[in-house]
Amino acid sequence: MHELSIAHSLVELAVEAAENTGMKRVQALYLKLGVLSGVVKESLEFSFDVVIEGTPLEGARLVIEDVPVQVFCSDCQEAHILPEPFPMRCPVCGTRTGQVLEGRELELYALEGGEENAGDDIKSPDR
Ligand SMILES: [Zn+2]
Repeated sequence: MHELSIAHSLVELAVEAAENTGMKRVQALYLKLGVLSGVVKESLEFSFDVVIEGTPLEGARLVIEDVPVQVFCSDCQEAHILPEPFPMRCPVCGTRTGQVLEGRELELYALEGGEENAGDDIKSPDR
């Protein structure tokens, strides 16, 4: 399963980052996930929960931020966000474009740590 190996690398990355910054406990991992990344979000969330068991990350949450597709249109000379990933056309003028600026991300961009207190001020993702 694709997502399982991704979850493994995320956990490795986060454990290493937490060690480097002296973070004792990781409460949440923030991930940017492009809609073109080819990763199934639900599947990644499930894999993550399985993978963190028995690691220093056990109990941590995976917070996924969906990144929409952004393309550059050579006709408009502008970047546009596509409401749907396909077809890959400029939403303004309809010109086909293959210049993807964003939407392929699979990026761990933040860790949230904590010591003893569970912390109730964590922003929760909109589902
Ligand atoms: Zn255009």
